[in-house]
Amino acid sequence: MDSHIEKVLWTQDQISLRVSELASKITSDLSAVAQPPVFVAVATGAFLFVADLVRKVGLPLVVDFVRSDSYGSGTVSSGAPAVSLDLKVDVRGRHVILVEDIVDTGNTLSCLIGHLKSKGASSISVCAFLDKPAGRKVQFQLVGDGKFYRGFECPDYFVVGYGMDYAELYRSLPYIGVLKPEHYT
Ligand code: 5GP
Ligand code: MG
Ligand code: MG
Repeated sequence: MDSHIEKVLWTQDQISLRVSELASKITSDLSAVAQPPVFVAVATGAFLFVADLVRKVGLPLVVDFVRSDSYGSGTVSSGAPAVSLDLKVDVRGRHVILVEDIVDTGNTLSCLIGHLKSKGASSISVCAFLDKPAGRKVQFQLVGDGKFYRGFECPDYFVVGYGMDYAELYRSLPYIGVLKPEHYT
């Protein structure tokens, strides 16, 4: 274990098992969608999750990225996120699965859902690996027959690993954990 980590909340094996379960649920839910669904991952935090997820979804699909910034380098959201990297793929009339590392206040997802809707996505699902309900300030609205998939409910900690950073570090840890207090500055 990395010496900066105080405790591990989910191990690599627990993550892998849960990603497989999410992928099979999504695969069965989307098996009747006419055009390949578009998995839109929120950079940078969702990069490992989307890579694992799409390799376990047994359907033709498209992958793209968006970026939305509100956090800066701290542990508290600054609110009002803006889209800072836009899609390459045209999502008009397509089913989109927005793939996030973690939902906290809900501001990022609300902003991105509005953005994808304005680009004409016909339905929008959200697949978030972690959900921190204690932090919720706005409830995001799914579009069309979109669904909400989540890996685990996260206790009210600032977590790192499996793509998630603190000051851009720790993303490469294969598990999810909490830093020792002296490493949050
Ligand atoms: P929201 O807009 O829902 O408040 O926050 C969403 C974004 O904030 C996430 O995509 C993630 O990048 C960041 N975030 C929220 N909670 C955590 C956390 O516990 N750890 C890390 N590393 N990032 C978080
Ligand atoms: Mg994120
Ligand atoms: Mg971050």
